[in-house]
Amino acid sequence: MHKIDLNLIEMTLDIMKYAIGRISATEHTIGKPKKESELKSLVGETITAKGIGGEYAFNLWKDHLATANVPVDHPRNLAFVPASPTKAAIMFDLVTSASSIHGAYWMEGAGGIFCENEAMKWIVSLTGMPEGSFGVFTSGGTAANLSAIVTAREHWRENPEYQREKGLIITSIGAHSSIKAMAKVADVDILLVDSEERLTGEDLKSQIQNLTVHERKRLFAVVATAGTTNAGIIDDLDDIATVCQQENLWFHVDAAYGGGALVADSVRHLFNGIEKADSVTIDPHKWMFSPYDCGAVIYKEPELAKNAHSQQGSYLDIFKDEGAHGFNPTDYQIQLTRRVRGLPLWFSLATHGTDRYKEAVERGIELAQIAGRMITAHPDLELVREPSLSCVLYRRKGWQPEDYTEWTYENHRKGFALVTPTKWKNGDTFETVSRFCFINPDTTERDIEMILESMV
Ligand SMILES: *Cc1c(COP(=O)(O)O)cnc(C)c1O
Repeated sequence: MHKIDLNLIEMTLDIMKYAIGRISATEHTIGKPKKESELKSLVGETITAKGIGGEYAFNLWKDHLATANVPVDHPRNLAFVPASPTKAAIMFDLVTSASSIHGAYWMEGAGGIFCENEAMKWIVSLTGMPEGSFGVFTSGGTAANLSAIVTAREHWRENPEYQREKGLIITSIGAHSSIKAMAKVADVDILLVDSEERLTGEDLKSQIQNLTVHERKRLFAVVATAGTTNAGIIDDLDDIATVCQQENLWFHVDAAYGGGALVADSVRHLFNGIEKADSVTIDPHKWMFSPYDCGAVIYKEPELAKNAHSQQGSYLDIFKDEGAHGFNPTDYQIQLTRRVRGLPLWFSLATHGTDRYKEAVERGIELAQIAGRMITAHPDLELVREPSLSCVLYRRKGWQPEDYTEWTYENHRKGFALVTPTKWKNGDTFETVSRFCFINPDTTERDIEMILESMV
């Protein structure tokens, strides 16, 4: 299996050619999902005792399977939170795989972890968190949020008074689903504040005042969102930080989507207060142009994360030997064996420089403003709220929820665009509306125009 033979060389060239073709193409087709049974009948049995051969398998991939995916980097894919990894980052993702680096411990992955940490220093600097703050790359925002919640809870539980208590955290209804999901994993209760728009310090204070004595005792953390996934809303981080300080609560900021915008001067002030966080989540695979998957969690006091996450085992003692001393990413999040998933980001930052990142993020924000103006000028369309970060919520006057769904499917069927509807709270009801989220700086004004034209 490991001997170099001509077939392998040929296969390597074929795969490299395919990868180069994929990243140098200027326009991709928007693929469509197919039923599992349909895919199965197209490709047949692929895992067999003898193997079907690389060439055959690769052809199945190219002919039938690759096209059953929707590329997140298509300029007219504005659904959910799309992505747009740089070519440099994608190429170094290949290098990351080819280098076979175990990214848990410095002893095995010093070179790769060094690069990750250089990229991390830049991310930490964007937050303005104090000296000593540092972080690690995770598989995504979900794992970052879990790692932070567990760190906060373990720190809280150091006090014997709380050791038998079930923890409680407060967040807003705009918080990402992963906060609720990870609270379940960490077995802590969660209280959702129904704030109209952004969560404020006042909202938080009155919520705390309404707690029973026992609930107040169980409360250990507050999760604010810096860029809600649905609408790009940034909570009032500064005031929330103050309340957390007064109440001695862990302050976590989930900036998985919005964190990329910390680099953008035009909106940086909206994040004021993030520097007071105890922990922050940022997803480089969302708005820092990294390939999947790459999240990040940053701690004001990394030692607390180490207390919570460092794994002990007799077979791990070797990694503590002299000369292997350094930063061990495994100590600061839930995962042991890990890919050095920050390495592609490092190469991309080193290649392009941070100014290019600033420009690319500003372009996403600008596209949202441009879309907002087009919508306002259009007789049949209406903004639901002013664009925030790179999210635009708008309605097509007179449309029912089914109309939005049909329009989405129709555009997707045609391979033209993927724009999905969402819901927005309108008084006591939830209204179905259309939503754009811009990440790809190569999306053009014409793209937006064409999508809006397709709504009439
Ligand atoms: C996307 C998102 C997450 C989850 O991140 P994953 O990388 O998908 O795990 C968490 N919080 C917010 C605000 C997000 O936008």
